[in-house]
Amino acid sequence: MPQYNWLETINVTEEMLEKADNRLPVIWISALDCTGCKEAFTRSFEPTALDTLLNFISLEYSKLLSVAGGFQVEEHKESIFEKYKGEFVLAVEGGIPGSDEFLMIADKSVSEEIIEASKNAKAVIAFGNCSAWGGIPAAGSNPTNSVDLRTFIPDDVPVALVPGCPPIPEVIVGTLLHIQFHGGLPELDKKLRPKVFYQATVHMTCHRKAFFDQKLFAESYDDEGARKGYCLFKLGCKGPTAFNSCESLGIDRCIAAGFTCISCSEKGFWDKGTFCGKRKM
Ligand code: SF4
Ligand code: SF4
Repeated sequence: MPQYNWLETINVTEEMLEKADNRLPVIWISALDCTGCKEAFTRSFEPTALDTLLNFISLEYSKLLSVAGGFQVEEHKESIFEKYKGEFVLAVEGGIPGSDEFLMIADKSVSEEIIEASKNAKAVIAFGNCSAWGGIPAAGSNPTNSVDLRTFIPDDVPVALVPGCPPIPEVIVGTLLHIQFHGGLPELDKKLRPKVFYQATVHMTCHRKAFFDQKLFAESYDDEGARKGYCLFKLGCKGPTAFNSCESLGIDRCIAAGFTCISCSEKGFWDKGTFCGKRKM
């Protein structure tokens, strides 16, 4: 498989790298989340999260990752709204609860917090299935009446959705770095996802597709076909309907580990019960 090269993928030249002399301020607000999206961010290796933080973005606020806490970090966040008005990126992770009782941050509801921040942001990015589509908090009976980010913020704010549960670490970083080096969001598809990362289904570039084409399928996770790396379609793989770049970036993910794609980047994936269901053929 090809090795992923972030510079080529988001069109950053060596000259642009050399000229980069400031870091993109980022405010990361967590709504109803599991922190998995932030954890994914820290696992990027091309470029690494460390390289990203030291050279390209300045993570000014994150409940989980900021060194400071409490009123200090809240005051700092407010100061960033003024200091970098129109220049910072607002990253949102998690579903937005329909009622204040479910999540308050420093005496404000998280929805108020997001609306306030988005008014001053250069761009807003919904990281993860929860903020992009409602995800896990909005699944089932949706006891918190959670909704996706787009339901809350004004229409004139530039927004990108970066779904996945969690999103691919290099896609999180790549989307942020596109803004850093090109001054704005990458080209988006009709669903507001960066085209460069969401233009094809997982199936189209899957390293097992030659087996699919030959109708060579694993029938169980531990049979001879599984050991030979055959296609996982009969085990319920949702790669054919999942738009994401898990296979195209050349970075081993679920299917390389021998597990079916569960289409975690698609709307309603949890309620559709896409886990390990064997297909009748
Ligand atoms: S999208 Fe997945 S990983 Fe991210 S906050 Fe929601 S449940 Fe967690
Ligand atoms: S494993 Fe899944 S994504 Fe890969 S070829 Fe088979 S059905 Fe398609």
